[in-house]
Amino acid sequence: MSSTVGRARTGRPEPVALRRRASGPVPGEVQVMPTDQPPEGAATSDARPRLSFAVPPARGKAPRHLADLDLAGRKAALAEVSLPAFRADQLSRHYFTRFTRDAAEMTDLPASVREQLAAELLPELITEVRTMRADGGRTLKHLWELHDGVRVESVLMRYKDRTTLCVSSQAGCGMACPFCATGQMGLTRNLTTAEIVEQVRHAARVCADGAPADGPARLSNVVFMGMGEPMINYRNVVAALHRLIDPSPEGFGLSARGITVSTVGLVPLIRKLAGEGMPVTLAVSLHAPDDELRDALIPVNSKWRVGELLDAAHDYFRATGRRVSIEYALIKDMNDHAWRAQMLADELNRRGRGWAHVNPIPLNPTPGSIWTCSEPSVQDLFVGTLRRAGITTTVRDTRGSDIDGACGQLAAEVLKQERIRS
Ligand code: SF4
Repeated sequence: MSSTVGRARTGRPEPVALRRRASGPVPGEVQVMPTDQPPEGAATSDARPRLSFAVPPARGKAPRHLADLDLAGRKAALAEVSLPAFRADQLSRHYFTRFTRDAAEMTDLPASVREQLAAELLPELITEVRTMRADGGRTLKHLWELHDGVRVESVLMRYKDRTTLCVSSQAGCGMACPFCATGQMGLTRNLTTAEIVEQVRHAARVCADGAPADGPARLSNVVFMGMGEPMINYRNVVAALHRLIDPSPEGFGLSARGITVSTVGLVPLIRKLAGEGMPVTLAVSLHAPDDELRDALIPVNSKWRVGELLDAAHDYFRATGRRVSIEYALIKDMNDHAWRAQMLADELNRRGRGWAHVNPIPLNPTPGSIWTCSEPSVQDLFVGTLRRAGITTTVRDTRGSDIDGACGQLAAEVLKQERIRS
C-alpha cells in the first residue's frame, strides 16, 4: 500500500490522504494501515508480525483422557488395566451427559472402582487460574492452566436465546495478526482433543449449575474463536468436533448447527473440513476484501489470496449447505470505507446469492490506537451498502471481546501482573 503516514504530536500515527485508482478509494480519503503502529503487545517499536506454520513440540505428554479416545478406544484403555469394558460406557455417560469427572458423583458405579476409573480416564487436564465476569454475570471469561504450565482462555456468553462458549484450540498462535495479542506471543503448542473438550465440559456444567446469571441453562453453541487458528490443529479439532456432535456415550450430542469453526483462511484445510461430513458453520475472519490491505492485516493472506479464500468458502457452503459467516471487524479509516463494503458485496455476489452472511464487528473505542471503532455514521454506511447489495448483514454483539484476536488479552494481562509481582 502506497500510503505515507506522519506522526501527530500525540504520538499517534497521523493518517494522510491517499490518491488511488478510481474504482476504489476516492481522492482525499484517509487510509490508516496496520503497519502504522507496532503489532499489539509487541515488545519493541520496530517489531513486525512473523507468520509461522511450525508447531513446536509439546513439553511432556498430557495424561490420557477419555475425551481423546472414541468409545472403542476407551474400552480398550480400561481392558488394559483389567477393568470391564462396559464401564467405559457408564463413565462416558457421566462425562458427556452429567458433565462430571468427579468419582463421588458416580453413585451408580461400585464404590470400589469409582476412584480407579476416574483416575484412569478422567485426570484433571485444565486448572482454573482466574475467572472474570462481565455483562452482569452473563459473560464469564476463564483462564486455564494446562499440565505443562501453558495458559489458555475460554469465554462463556449467555444470551436470551442461546448460551455460547468460545474455546481455544492452541496455546498462542503462529498467524501473527497485528491486532492480536495472542498472535504476538507466537505458537506454544496445539491443544489436545481432550484439552479442548474439557473447556466445553466445564462450561456445560457451569451452565447446568446456573453459574452465569439467570439460572440454569443448556450450553447450545460452541465457537472455535478463542486462542489459536483451529485449522493448524486440524486433527485434534476434528476429533473434538466429533466429541461435541456425536450422541452420548460417544459425545455431548450438540447440534452441528450450533458449532462454528473460525479461520483466517487456510484454504486447503477449509476444503478438507468440507469433506468431513460434519455440517458445522465455517466463519472466515476476512476483515478486508482487497489483497492490498489484507496482506498487512492478516499475514496468511500472503499465501492464500482473498479470491482463493472466498472460492473455498463458497465450495464449503455447497458441500455442507451451511451458510458461511464472513467476520469483518470495523476499524476506523482502515477497512471501513463504503467502497470496501461494495467490493465485498460484489465478491460475494459474484459467487452466488445467499451463501454468506456478513458480521461486521464494532471495536471498542481505543483513543490513540489505530485499532479503534468506526464513526457510527461510517458503520451505518458500511452496513447499508452491504444490505442494499442484497447481503445478509448482522452487526455482531462483541460481549467484551473485540476482534477474534482479543482472545489473548486475559492471558497476556495475567502474565504481565505475575511478572510485576515476581
Ligand atoms: S486473530 Fe486469531 S488467527 Fe490471528 S493471531 Fe490472533 S488468534 Fe491467531
